[in-house]
Amino acid sequence: MIAPAMKTRPDQPLAYRELARRRAAVTRRLGPSSLPRWSALAGENWSVDTKLEFSLDEDGVVWVHGEFAARAELLCQRCLEVLPSEYSGRVDLCLVEDAQRADELAHSCDVLLVSGDQIDVSEIVEDELLLGVPEQLCEQEPCVRLPDLSYPAPGVEEEEVQGNPFAALGRLKAD
Ligand SMILES: [Zn+2]
Repeated sequence: MIAPAMKTRPDQPLAYRELARRRAAVTRRLGPSSLPRWSALAGENWSVDTKLEFSLDEDGVVWVHGEFAARAELLCQRCLEVLPSEYSGRVDLCLVEDAQRADELAHSCDVLLVSGDQIDVSEIVEDELLLGVPEQLCEQEPCVRLPDLSYPAPGVEEEEVQGNPFAALGRLKAD
């Protein structure tokens, strides 16, 4: 009897070694319950799509290569507004169960230490998702939302402002 093709459901852990043996690819859209650290940053409406390809190298190490595409509402670190954002990134990891082997491999590649023979997709992608969060989301330069720091702060003496030849220009621009 031929075993049925391996079907994976959303949020179901992956038998990564079996997937690697079969050189299988898994495509997932991750749900809110699976990415707690990332969804805390990402606002109400977000989505993360991933495609991960599993393989074995000549030493029998399981590799996962893939990519993700994220859509979220994130805080712009420049103007401190929450803005819609889309970004993508790559995942290139080897999955190792043995801690000593993981230490050896960590010199040459990114290693994810796995306990047991199954792994959640979120374990594979969440760190990369967090590392990839863009800091600046403003598209315009300078950002229209950025508080303008070039004008004198309230309370600055008028004399000082008049001494600055650019102050008049700044006031014109502000109007
Ligand atoms: Zn901004």
